[in-house]
This record gives sequence, C-alpha cells and structure tokens, in this order.
Amino acid sequence: MGRFEKQEINRQWRKRNFGKERIFRAVFDQSFQFMGLLTPDGTLVAANRTSLEFIQREESDVLGIPFWLTPWWTHSPQQQKRLREAVRMVAMGRTVRFETTHPDPSGRMHYVDFSLRPITDHRGRVLLLVPEGRDITDRWEAENKIRESGEKYRMLFSAESDAILIFDAETFQIVEANDAAILLYGYRREEFARLNFTRITAEPEKLRERIDRVLEGKRNLVFMVQHRRKDGTFFPAEVSLGSFLWKDRPMIIQIIRDISERLKIATMKDEMLSAVSHEMRTPLTAMLGFTEFMLENEMSPELMREYIGIIHKESERLKGLIDNLLTFQSLRAGFGIQSFRAVEIQSLIQHTARLFERCADHRFTLAVPDDLPPILGDEERLLQALENLVSNACKYSPAGSGIEIGANSSDGAIAIWVRDEGPGIPPEAQEQIFDRFFRIDNKDGRRIGSTGLGLPLVKEIVRLHEGQVWVESAPGLGSTFLMRFPLDKVCWLH
Ligand code: ADP
Repeated sequence: MGRFEKQEINRQWRKRNFGKERIFRAVFDQSFQFMGLLTPDGTLVAANRTSLEFIQREESDVLGIPFWLTPWWTHSPQQQKRLREAVRMVAMGRTVRFETTHPDPSGRMHYVDFSLRPITDHRGRVLLLVPEGRDITDRWEAENKIRESGEKYRMLFSAESDAILIFDAETFQIVEANDAAILLYGYRREEFARLNFTRITAEPEKLRERIDRVLEGKRNLVFMVQHRRKDGTFFPAEVSLGSFLWKDRPMIIQIIRDISERLKIATMKDEMLSAVSHEMRTPLTAMLGFTEFMLENEMSPELMREYIGIIHKESERLKGLIDNLLTFQSLRAGFGIQSFRAVEIQSLIQHTARLFERCADHRFTLAVPDDLPPILGDEERLLQALENLVSNACKYSPAGSGIEIGANSSDGAIAIWVRDEGPGIPPEAQEQIFDRFFRIDNKDGRRIGSTGLGLPLVKEIVRLHEGQVWVESAPGLGSTFLMRFPLDKVCWLH
C-alpha cells in the first residue's frame, strides 16, 4: 500500500466517524491500557494517549505505518514476526492474545498482556483490528521474584547436605524430602510421598510429645534418636525439629544428621585414651618397681647397670609415646612442618638403627646406597616416622627375626622401607591400619602395647612431605612398610 493510500484511509476513517469520534476518542485516550486501531493489513490508524506517552512520540510519528515497524515492536524481530502472524489471523476473523514486551524510551522492558481483535461489519467482514495491551510488568516482576525465591529455597533445600523431612504435624504424613534424605534412608521420592514419619523413627511413642513441645513454641528442639532406613537397618541420628504453618496446617521440619561416624570416632577416642593411659602406666610401673628395689636393696654394680638399662628402655618407650601424642596433636592443630632442610637419608637410617641397637632381640640389616640425594624435609619428623615403623617391626615380629631398613632412588622418587619377618597384615586391613586408633584384633593384641596412633602419624608426616606410605604384606610372610618421596621433594644440591 502506497503512502498516499494510507493517508487516504486515515482521512476517510476520521471523516466517516467524525460524529462519534470525539466521545470515542475520549474513552480511547483515557484508557490506562494501550489501545490502537489497525487496518486489516496491519497499518496503524490510531493509537491512544497511554500508548503514545509510553513511547514518548506523537500520533503523527507512527500512524500510517505497519504496526510491527512502530517503536513498540522494533526491539525484537521475534515479536515482530509474532505480531505479523497475529495480524494475518485476526484479519481472517480470529482473536489472538499473547504476552509480549515493549521497551520504554529509557530501555526498560515492560511485560505486556497483548490482544488483537477484529471489528467486523454486519456481514462478518473484518473492517479494523483492535490491538490492546495491558502493562503487567509489576505483576510479572512480583511473580518472577516469588518464583526466583521459591527456586532459591528449593535449591537450598535439595543442596543441603543434612537430610530434611517435612511432615504434617497432625497426621505425620511426609510431604517433602530432600536429596540427602533420599540418599540416607534409601526411599525414592515418590515412596517418601506415601510414607508416614512413624515408619522412620524408632521411638514413635515419643514423637507426639516432642512435636507438641515444638508446636508450643520451643524452637529447634535437638535430640538423639535411632532412625530406620528402608532396608530395616537403624542408625543413630541427631535430629533438630522446627515447625511452620503451610496452607493453615502446622508442619514439622526435621533436619537429620547421621552421627554413626561421630559416635564411632568418640568410641575410638575413649578406647585410645584408655590404651594410652595403659601404655603409660606399664613403663612407669616398671620404672617405679626397679627404682624402689634399687633404693631398698644393696646390689652389685652389674645388676644395677642392668636395672638402669631397663629403666632407660622404659623411659624411652614412654617418651616415644608422648612424642607421638604431642606431634599428632600439633600436626592436627595445623602447625605442619616448620622448616624444610636437606635431610641425609643415610644418616637418618643409621641414627634410627642406633636407637634400636639396645633392643637386641632382632637382627638388623641396613641396605642404603652411598650416593642417595638428600630429602628436603623436617629431619625430626622424618626420624619420628621411621622410628615408628621400626618400632612396629620390633613390636610385632618375633624375637630373633630379621629387620631390614633400606632406601633407594628409582622412578623419580626416593623410597625408604622397613621390612620385617613378622605375622604380616591381612589385605583387608592394609589400608585401615593407617586410620587413627585402628588396631588389628589378634590374640597378641592385648600383650603388645598398642594405641593405634603410630601409623596415622607416619602417614601424616609423609603426606606433609608430599609423599606416600603403604604396606606390602601377606599373612605369615612379614611386612614391608614403604615411604616414597617424589623427586621435587628431593634436594639435588648437596
Ligand atoms: P599401634 O602399633 O600403637 O597399635 P599403629 O598405628 O602403629 O599403632 O599400628 C596399627 C596396627 O597395625 C597395629 O595395632 C598392628 O595391628 C598393625 N601393625 C603395624 N605394624 C605392623 C607390623 N610391622 N606387623 C604386623 N602388624 C603391624
């Protein structure tokens, strides 16, 4: 359609409706909604004040051009296409409604509930199209905020590492379970939706009383209880209860933490404490006994020497234990390695072997090449690690058997090992023995002084030197404990 024709339509439309136009125009302009009129091919022939004010333009700026080329639409080719399609449909007598966007002159996007309706003559011919738009930005933004915060809470709910269950305070029917709960109890989400909370707790009779306390206003009641998994097994849980209203119904939110691991560690700690006390008591008792005997009795210099030798050995044992405890504490407290220096492997091994010379129950052999580069590390800690391995070798292997302390460099690393001919370690325990307080239950267990602290300490010291420690062993075939330090921790500058 040419420009002249558009103007002509415009003119005729105004002329034809002039009588009623003023009333119509007033209503049209006072509407809070965006309103306009289009010819069936989509040319804009009228736009009300609200819509013109929105784009801050005069009516003459936009009349006579296809509606989709006006400033309400040009920001989005997609919306333009949608509008053209709508014009085509409405020109055939249909009504179209969709949500669209219009930018205001500041660039802020408004969300608009848009509709396009036909005006027909008495024969059903479409004369004009009426576009209308309702600005729903505020509603849209409010809804969006609710949606976003809802999503945020849902994400928090499902990302929470503790299990969370929400159930009806009256019927105990579970209404929500997060991912951690699904993992912990073994029920699928849809199974949870059919589950009553009494199936989960081992103390259903106490549940009502606790819930009443929460509903009476006691916030976040925390207690310990046994909970049942889907497979029927129980676990100790630390539970925190809270309540809230949902659709006028009181709901209980329960946060559950599986504390089996915590209880296990606590038990191990207790055991360790009694083992440590026992371990300290044994050498002290021996030392006391021998010194008292020496104070009260005359004795030959040889016997006195022998007794002093025993007392010395027991003091060393005590010192070793206390050193282990203190180092363990300081490493765990994050003090780590204080200073890295070049440590000569050969002298480290010789020094350790000398320390154990007095315990002449075993045959010691050393296998250390002369040309090993030093390790960059903390000599005192490395010595402590090696001493622990040798002390274990002495402790767990029979008198008269051989112990080899050796080292070599291969595959870009330095390895130090302690090999014994003792009872060996079953494959299933070979990793666990490096865990804190782990001790193998064997018939010697009670006889051999043991706290389960030595190997974890070795592991920690080796880790702080960026190395690895492991054992190669088979029951009855002895054990070889190896510490391996990577090349970049080896100092080549000696
Ligand atoms: P502790 O010796 O005080 O029990 P460790 O952490 O040093 O603590 O050792 C943990 C467990 O590993 C020991 O209780 C023992 O059962 C086993 N173990 C350690 N070294 C050896 C070894 N050389 N031969 C056999 N078993 C060993």
